[in-house]
Amino acid sequence: IRILGIEGTAWAASAALFDAETDDVVIETDAYQPDSGGIHPREASEHMHDAIPEVVGRVLEHARETHDGSASEPPVDVDERSSSGQQAAPVDAVAFSRGPGLGPCLRVVGTAARALSQALEVPLVGVNHMVAHLEIGRHTSGFDSPVCLNASGANAHLLAYRNGRYRVLGETMDTGVGNSIDKFTRHVGWSHPGGPKVEEAAKDGEYVDLPYVVKGMDFSFSGIMSAAKQRYDDGVPVEDVCYSLQENIFGMLTEVSERALSLTGSDELVLGGGVGHNARLREMLAEMCAQRGADFHAPEPRFLGDNAGMIAVLGAKMYAAGDTLALEDSRVDPNFRPDQVPVTWRGRSER
Ligand code: ATP
Repeated sequence: IRILGIEGTAWAASAALFDAETDDVVIETDAYQPDSGGIHPREASEHMHDAIPEVVGRVLEHARETHDGSASEPPVDVDERSSSGQQAAPVDAVAFSRGPGLGPCLRVVGTAARALSQALEVPLVGVNHMVAHLEIGRHTSGFDSPVCLNASGANAHLLAYRNGRYRVLGETMDTGVGNSIDKFTRHVGWSHPGGPKVEEAAKDGEYVDLPYVVKGMDFSFSGIMSAAKQRYDDGVPVEDVCYSLQENIFGMLTEVSERALSLTGSDELVLGGGVGHNARLREMLAEMCAQRGADFHAPEPRFLGDNAGMIAVLGAKMYAAGDTLALEDSRVDPNFRPDQVPVTWRGRSER
């Protein structure tokens, strides 16, 4: 199975080719970089409009060059209409991120995916972006049924599989984790994205008191962000604020991850999302897992932040399960929650 994946929920205009036989993933990404401030939805969608055709073009060219001309066996339940062109196409299906994300960006990606599916005469697969952040870690770790911490820009979720769905065990009560950090760095005058700059500055910092808010399995970042801005305005060295932000925010995420492992009885944790680049977060999670005898896995960097590789990999699993979309049902959904997705691709024994 060879799948063309397209991602474009916020900043990454990305296309990928996943070959399930060789496990090869080729990713082409063109990142939107705001001139000032954070991600502006209209500008980001203009970026998608310009960049998606280019990244898709490059990946399709690669797909054509590496295609041996044969068609793989279509899964039984893929409808005949959409699979009629299997013989000639260099990919078996087009998978795209349906949401969650910025509406104007998603609409560009949805339109591109529909057009490609029709032009190549291959089925369309609609992928939930958050489930893709999770499944890529399951795929690269080989873990069976892990708890997943999605630490991305606009989201922060703890997920675990039960009875045919990924259940949200805990989540942020306000902003996503990366966006919270980015709001602080905008206040300080640093350019987007702020996460890597906070990580760098934190290396020279010492702890100052900041709020720490965990309620059961949920957590909140808005109070800590307001307090961090206040401390900075009061003249506390920015390195100290950055250090303390990381200790508290990542401490909160580690605490709830441990609670989720304990609740589910799972001994596997995977990390997903762009904040997963942060070495201190990975260190805290790895230490917690080691202390309770659990295994921890963070995918390689190219699979952490938004990327079409994760869309293509999950797209392949869905395609193999016959989980394709009719054109008329392929609307995008900016608020698409992970627990809305019927998990069709896991083995019967896992349901
Ligand atoms: P979502 O996936 O929820 O739709 P998104 O597209 O904004 O959101 P990602 O691409 O997963 O998210 O992650 C981007 C975020 O990761 C940004 O907020 C950025 O600041 C943060 N980030 C990147 N590198 C680091 C780092 N080293 N430390 C902390 N945060 C980081």
